[in-house]
Amino acid sequence: MQANTLVVNCGSSSIKLALFDHQEQKISSALVERLNTADAFARIEGIDAPLAIEPEARYEQALKVVLSAFEELGLLDSAPSAIGHRVVHGGETFREAVLIDDDVIEGIQACSGLAPLHNPVNLAGIEAMRKLYPRVPQVAVFDTAFHQTLPPKAYMYAVPESYYRDWAVRRYGFHGTSHYFMSRETARRLDRTPATTSLISAHLGNGCSITAIRDGLSVDTSMGLTPLEGLVMGTRSGDVDPGLFDYLDGKGITAAALNDVLNQQSGLLGLSGQTNDMRTLCDLADHGHEPSRLAIDVFCFRLARYIGAMMASLNRIDALVFTGGIGENSSRIREQTCNHLGLLGFELEADLNSAHGGFSDGIISSPESRFPVMVIPTNEELVIASEAKRLAETPTPSERP
Ligand code: ADP
Repeated sequence: MQANTLVVNCGSSSIKLALFDHQEQKISSALVERLNTADAFARIEGIDAPLAIEPEARYEQALKVVLSAFEELGLLDSAPSAIGHRVVHGGETFREAVLIDDDVIEGIQACSGLAPLHNPVNLAGIEAMRKLYPRVPQVAVFDTAFHQTLPPKAYMYAVPESYYRDWAVRRYGFHGTSHYFMSRETARRLDRTPATTSLISAHLGNGCSITAIRDGLSVDTSMGLTPLEGLVMGTRSGDVDPGLFDYLDGKGITAAALNDVLNQQSGLLGLSGQTNDMRTLCDLADHGHEPSRLAIDVFCFRLARYIGAMMASLNRIDALVFTGGIGENSSRIREQTCNHLGLLGFELEADLNSAHGGFSDGIISSPESRFPVMVIPTNEELVIASEAKRLAETPTPSERP
């Protein structure tokens, strides 16, 4: 059996696992769903029968079930050679991926106040894997790390400066692993080096964010202190007037209640009153459902505004790149968005756009377009696997000759 790297992404009710061989080819994946309920189950890619998980199982028990199944299928020896964990918030402490030790765990805990729904469950996964594989090097890869190169003018809110000093209030940005991948993959496809490639990367999934990448470094991004800021998303509002909090407080909606609404009942779902799923929304709009059409209009218009805004941080654009479930699959959303941007010179080629960049290295723009527009499938798992492998193979100071 080849050495392999395991990628672990723990959510509050799910665990995603991916297994890579030593050449960084994905060999299998698994998904645990409905964790912490009586109906928890796991599925391994390509295998129909779900794996039973005992009711109310915690992370360690659920992980054991999947890892034993990987072993029985001959996909994993007794242990992987490296494990990479997705961690949502690294604050200003973590500017890059790190080998996990007790200090790193403390550092992740210290950032939990900034991501109370995510960091504690990411840590639960780390603790479980450390128990299961105490001798295997484990690596944390942070969603925020790629954005640590934002300059202060992009990350500071115009609020009293003491909020930053005392409470770490600033813009952090998320989806960093995906935007990092886009920066590297765009450079590769354009036959350039990342350090000489500047692009606007639009990650459009259930969560959506856009990043300006200048010479390979993130210099502006749409998400902020939390993943709520910026674009319209599946259930998240993106930008609203902060005055909304006081105004609705006067109507009996507390800040905590409004925060939940803005995260869970807004965005495409809130506007359409039907669904947060873009594909369903497009079908509804095609059948004359006006609120769905409006939701799509607001989504594309906000996105186009942000594409314009990202230009303030760039001195050149080598590509505008779309990714994520919506960005990779919806020619309609890409077209409607770029239609707002004629003045900036973005022009799509209809055939290339409807083929989702299936020809010519993902390019969907016409030869007349001032800037290339591309569709590139993201691959966050691959970045996490490569970082885990790289750091696991890097000698620690005591091992160096
Ligand atoms: P997540 O952020 O949870 O990883 P994805 O990146 O898979 O989500 O994106 C999910 C979104 O992509 C959903 O809104 C889904 O409807 C949308 N999507 C997938 N395929 C299409 C399509 N062909 N047309 C429009 N939207 C699509």
